[in-house]
Amino acid sequence: MNESEYKDYALATIACRAGTAMTPELENSDPIFLTSSFCYENAAQAAARFAGDEPGNVYSRFTNPTVRAFEQRLAALEGGECAVATASGMSAIMTLCLGLLRAGDHVICSFSVFGSTINLFKNVLSKFGIEFTFVDLVDHGSWEHAIRPTTKLLFVETPSNPLTEIADIRLLASLAHAAGALLVVDNCFCTPVLQQPLQLGADIVIHSATKYLDGQGRCLGGAIVAPRELVEEKLIPVMRSGGPSMSPFNAWVFLKGLETLSIRMRQHCETAHAIATWLSERANVQTVFYPGLAEHPQHDLASQQQSGYGGIVSFEIRGGRSGAWDLIDRLRLFSITANLGDTRSIVTHPASTTHSRVSSEDRERSGITEGLIRLSIGLEEPRDLIVDLDQAFAGG
Ligand SMILES: *Cc1c(COP(=O)(O)O)cnc(C)c1O
Repeated sequence: MNESEYKDYALATIACRAGTAMTPELENSDPIFLTSSFCYENAAQAAARFAGDEPGNVYSRFTNPTVRAFEQRLAALEGGECAVATASGMSAIMTLCLGLLRAGDHVICSFSVFGSTINLFKNVLSKFGIEFTFVDLVDHGSWEHAIRPTTKLLFVETPSNPLTEIADIRLLASLAHAAGALLVVDNCFCTPVLQQPLQLGADIVIHSATKYLDGQGRCLGGAIVAPRELVEEKLIPVMRSGGPSMSPFNAWVFLKGLETLSIRMRQHCETAHAIATWLSERANVQTVFYPGLAEHPQHDLASQQQSGYGGIVSFEIRGGRSGAWDLIDRLRLFSITANLGDTRSIVTHPASTTHSRVSSEDRERSGITEGLIRLSIGLEEPRDLIVDLDQAFAGG
């Protein structure tokens, strides 16, 4: 089947089948092409491939069949034209910026994005004369106010990490387009199963495949889903020369991860919702951050924009850092690690880990308090997770 034929299929079907190009062996699972380079029939063909006069593989920094299968499957899932796979989520963001921006260009980004994204923008890319303004995710006036004639990108993560705030993608897309800029959405928390930013008007989607796309905590990877012309003219040259390419082995892991994505995301959502509700009934929990709760400030927007509320639940416990650390240390089932989107449930203290390199001032502004705990709800039996939380809250 070719790609356009997948348009008529539901997401779960696309996730199992799109992008697969069978070899003459007629294998029913995607093969892994672990090869760094590719051969030619003769010297003339080598020359034609290098000159770009003939399509075909040259070197796995440029193209690789397993990586291409992942790119095509992810693009089909997001309803996008084209995707570029990268070595990590951060290298997807870096590749995008290197491809689209030059000195003097301006980017508007919400405060509440992944900590490394802030560091990349503030400490690395700003060295090359790219300018950044950070705004409050849910304050649309502040996005509008920040727009300059040189604004090229609006960058947003929704739901945000770790506070699960929801940005209005349609509204930000129209703001961006009125200013001649592009809207980039980091769709890591939702995946295309729960939210398809391109259908809501966004221009580009970023993924950390490391999270739910793998879903089993094995490999680092990332991707950019974007219009074909932008991929071919702006991003491929950075990939070819800069080399932040995805390993074919990792691409294969992600291909197999995508096949179970729909069913996994549904379960992550269901268990996370139950845990968020349970947490909201605890006396020493100040606030629960989960878009599925009616009291979440953007609950209605989340219901319109997403088909599920996701697997991340954050909450603020009384007693600041020591209260948070004590609770974390009493948990038995939850892994203490900074990853998310794994089959195994994870507990993280953002202020001292994922967001520790962010200045305390910026942390404060984005609401990452010392009592904040982030849970990435895995695929264990929901009841076992609640029993674990219960004993931890009871004091061990
Ligand atoms: C983890 C993460 C990233 C970075 O991805 P890596 O694969 O770790 O480089 C970017 N955005 C969000 C929202 C993330 O959670």
